[in-house]
Amino acid sequence: MFSNLKEQPADKILALMQLFKDDPRPQKIDLGVGVYKNAEGLTPVMRAVKTAEKQLWEAQDSKSYVGLAGDPAFADAMIDLVLGDAVARENVAAAATPGGTGAVRQAFEMIRMANPDARVFVSNPTWPNHVSILKFMGMPMAEYRYFDSATRGVDFDGMIEDLKQTKAGDVVLLHGCCHNPTGANLNLVQWQIVVDTLLKTGAIPMIDIAYQGFGDGLEEDAAGTRLVASSMPECLIAASCSKNFGVYRERTGILMAVAQDKGLRGLTQGTLNFLNRQNYSFPPDHGARVVTMILQSPELRADWAAELEEVRLSMLGLREQLAGELQRLSGSDRFAFIADHRGMFSRLGTTPEMVDKLRAEHAIYMVGDSRLNIAGLNKNSVPILAKAIIDCGI
Ligand code: PMP
Repeated sequence: MFSNLKEQPADKILALMQLFKDDPRPQKIDLGVGVYKNAEGLTPVMRAVKTAEKQLWEAQDSKSYVGLAGDPAFADAMIDLVLGDAVARENVAAAATPGGTGAVRQAFEMIRMANPDARVFVSNPTWPNHVSILKFMGMPMAEYRYFDSATRGVDFDGMIEDLKQTKAGDVVLLHGCCHNPTGANLNLVQWQIVVDTLLKTGAIPMIDIAYQGFGDGLEEDAAGTRLVASSMPECLIAASCSKNFGVYRERTGILMAVAQDKGLRGLTQGTLNFLNRQNYSFPPDHGARVVTMILQSPELRADWAAELEEVRLSMLGLREQLAGELQRLSGSDRFAFIADHRGMFSRLGTTPEMVDKLRAEHAIYMVGDSRLNIAGLNKNSVPILAKAIIDCGI
């Protein structure tokens, strides 16, 4: 049986991590994998997470099963974090999932159950896992224009032109904030135009929000998602706690199905429970419980928000330093987009050959599409990267 299996393509980012590990050059810089790193290159456990884990260890007296949708308190806390008061609680069905990836997968499953012919429109480019999971599931997929390679901003006219081609029953996958891999994002006026367009075509939005708090702030980063949730008849929201709580390996995420028709909630909640049951039964609890404790406790929440803000500002500072350094070295503003982008990533917008050159000649590692992880930098490595970019003639 096993010999019938086909070799699967290696994950490009994991392959890059291995290359980096094997590189003996001491000055090497890793801008590949999408994990937040502090100035020392570490991904520490957040203070509030440590405190909540200690409290949990002391207080938890059972590890028995919770529920197919996870702890309802986790759903309440996350709905509040992501949606604020944009929609009433009774309009939202939700289920905990193993990370944001689990939420994305369950969302696709739900779409397919509702309409096997639904086309899922993804941004070009998007997080490669979106495309990979859709292909694996054999779901119809289409792309909408997103990145303007000249300005390195959003090709908004192209995006809207393509979204006008959607039909009722189609789904449009949008990044809630901090677009991965480009770093280019919609402003609120543009979100409104997207909403108006989809209201006309009848397509349903699905939002993947994996970096709330990494862009312009916790509230600001959720503004587009809230606008969609309060304006559209239905939407799906896949949220990840991996980055903003730093609980990557705990696999903590949630899928929300929002409907203006409250009568649909029983059906959507039942479907979410059913899908969890089919795929892994009960979702992981530890990370979800820690997140819930943090969000429920005013002290822990304040400490978490403060640390998250430090993380956000440190990435913003690195962006400004890099854009400034590149302006100085190039004598032009052509790299100003780096300071305009938000989140952990920026797409430099150069060729795979140049990405190879940066790696071969300067020991600088980034993904082949020229996505760089800003958090892989620190004050000392920014000038090294800037000089390498200019030396390579980018
Ligand atoms: N969506 C996007 C756009 C992401 O970048 C990520 C993290 N790489 C995720 C979802 C989900 O991450 P996780 O499964 O680790 O929560």
